[in-house]
Amino acid sequence: MIAYRSKAPIFCMAMIALAACGGSEDPETMPTERSEVDMDPKAVELAQRFLLIDTHIDVPYRLNDHPEDIGERTESGDFDFPRAIAGGLDVPFMSIYVPADYQESGGAKDFADEMISMVESIASEHPDKFTMVRSADQAAAMAGTGKIGFAMGIENGAAIEGDLANLKHFFDRGVRYITLTHSENNHICDSSYADERRWNGLSPFGRELVAEMNAIGMLVDISHVSDATAEQVLELTSAPVIASHSSCRHFTPDWERNIGDELIVAVGRNGGVVQINFGSSFLREDAQKQGSAYWAAMGAYVNEHQLDPGSEELAAWNESYWADKTRIYADVSDVADHIDRVVELAGIDHVGIGSDYDGVGDSLPTGLKDVSQYPNLIAELLERGYSEEDIEKICSGNLMRVWREAERIAAGG
Ligand SMILES: [Zn+2]
Repeated sequence: MIAYRSKAPIFCMAMIALAACGGSEDPETMPTERSEVDMDPKAVELAQRFLLIDTHIDVPYRLNDHPEDIGERTESGDFDFPRAIAGGLDVPFMSIYVPADYQESGGAKDFADEMISMVESIASEHPDKFTMVRSADQAAAMAGTGKIGFAMGIENGAAIEGDLANLKHFFDRGVRYITLTHSENNHICDSSYADERRWNGLSPFGRELVAEMNAIGMLVDISHVSDATAEQVLELTSAPVIASHSSCRHFTPDWERNIGDELIVAVGRNGGVVQINFGSSFLREDAQKQGSAYWAAMGAYVNEHQLDPGSEELAAWNESYWADKTRIYADVSDVADHIDRVVELAGIDHVGIGSDYDGVGDSLPTGLKDVSQYPNLIAELLERGYSEEDIEKICSGNLMRVWREAERIAAGG
């Protein structure tokens, strides 16, 4: 039994922050400074001109742990208004993350409602900087406004609590995708992280839920789910799906949290989109193994000593854990490799950006350390020969097509 609110598979934001403190880091793998000054001017121009949508940013849960004003430059975290504007970001999907232990304790729906209210209040406190976005048209209208439009996705369908009326409730509050589960199996489906599977895919209620999501225009997100769940969703759904923050399993063999080649092909056939996660452990096998070993060791230590995530004892353990290790970071080229892979398997119309900023702690790639640095990825894509039209598809065009199609189907079109 894990004694704290957990994040993927036992992730907790406070602990991820701890992870950032530790370590003797080799200059080779040290992250670059957070800076916009050295960016390729052409890439900066494209990031500013194109609508840029990132389908997974964990700001709400970060602020739940450490409240601060993201309307101004913040010292910690990967997202704030000035950096988002510098990076050309227009529409981040704020992740309404519901930790799996609410499934046992109860309160998943209430917690999701709290996080949604937090996002709304940030927007209403800064009407000159942020606004809420509830439709594809509203998202498209954000480009060039100098403001950031918050869309929302619920990360963990546990918040539905077995009642389709709650799906409608969240849709009415502005939520536009639901990640069916998170780190554990829930009442909807099985998780890729679960050692034992409960449903062998979707539950009977999960099947009903997918149909109802299609009917009202709520996007189905297959990140975090087991392969069997994803396959069954793809058989059932009448609308294109998204993987809001998943990378390619090809580069992290046997790690089910990333999406496998066959499923990438199937998402392409479905008309959906794979939004690439920037966490180093999603991008490289060596970083994945290092990260998994770290989380397992930390989880065991926390459970054995019943520690609080913010405790000094855990901080000391963390420091000693990293003292003799070199932390492995991916870089921008790794992210581009994942984009290339989806393009090879499914085509240029089926890939986008779902960074997981503020959700993967100190594991972001060199050159993509925060939301100011998207132009570095665009520069890499230009170098690899992607056309401006291709890059626009990756920045938002593909996701917009999926969103509009879901709206059209819901409208009975
Ligand atoms: Zn996640």
